[in-house]
Amino acid sequence: MKKKHSIFANWRSKDVAYLASLGIKIEEGYYTFLIEEGFVYDKIMKHYTRNKLAFIDNVTPKEFSSKYAVAEFSKKELDDSQYYVLCNLGKPKGFPLPKNNFGEVIKGTYENYCKACYANKKQVASFKIEKEPKWSNNQVNFSLNWIFDEMFFKKDFFQEVLQPLGLNSREVLIGKTGKTSDSVVQLIIPEAKSPLLIDETLYDINLPCEICKTKKYTQQILDFMPPFKENFDFLICKTQESFGETETFQAMRRIIISKKFCDILLKHKIIKYNTNQIYPVSNQ
Ligand SMILES: [Zn+2]
Repeated sequence: MKKKHSIFANWRSKDVAYLASLGIKIEEGYYTFLIEEGFVYDKIMKHYTRNKLAFIDNVTPKEFSSKYAVAEFSKKELDDSQYYVLCNLGKPKGFPLPKNNFGEVIKGTYENYCKACYANKKQVASFKIEKEPKWSNNQVNFSLNWIFDEMFFKKDFFQEVLQPLGLNSREVLIGKTGKTSDSVVQLIIPEAKSPLLIDETLYDINLPCEICKTKKYTQQILDFMPPFKENFDFLICKTQESFGETETFQAMRRIIISKKFCDILLKHKIIKYNTNQIYPVSNQ
């Protein structure tokens, strides 16, 4: 696992020159770059934050900040893992209806959620999309903008490949008519039978919601996803926990897939085997 930090400042021309001498190309003015932990990162941090004299020397540019931003995993770490977080839910194909109204989409589709942080949503109605989608060659699934924990599949693909595995689907409605789509279904992703061992990990950085007391874990990828507290069999499930930042309306569940389900997604070219699309759950 490589840990990358994001470094931000209002850079001056002398900073541009200094970082260029370390092989890092930045632009003058406000600019952020990502850098892997290691010798060069340490050198930069030492250079800019060594002591208070740095400010007298005018060494540190204005608004300089560095924070741990993302973990990247090796192929071996993916190979060795039994379960993955699925980040690529398919190419987004538009917004759910009603258009341009996130609040109404949530209100019309879910119940029992906290109005302050949108955590703990239970889906009670089908998603509505504008029209029957146009499918590109070999495309069998898509996602919807705003909805980060649901997947939509071509109906015949679902019936041939996913249904025989014991997975279920839900209808998707078209436009204002509310007619059931002939070509698309929503995959029903069951909720995990166990919580994650996620408290006091790097993901546990947010305060609980003041209204419902639910704690949302960070959506950033900062480490292996912690394992479930108890083992259970599944192909695909969504976490009991919500992910997002405390004060936002983002409260998605993370989708966890088994190696077997990952292989199916790879076989049908729904995802690629890299750390932008899946990342490992640590083995228990
Ligand atoms: Zn809440």
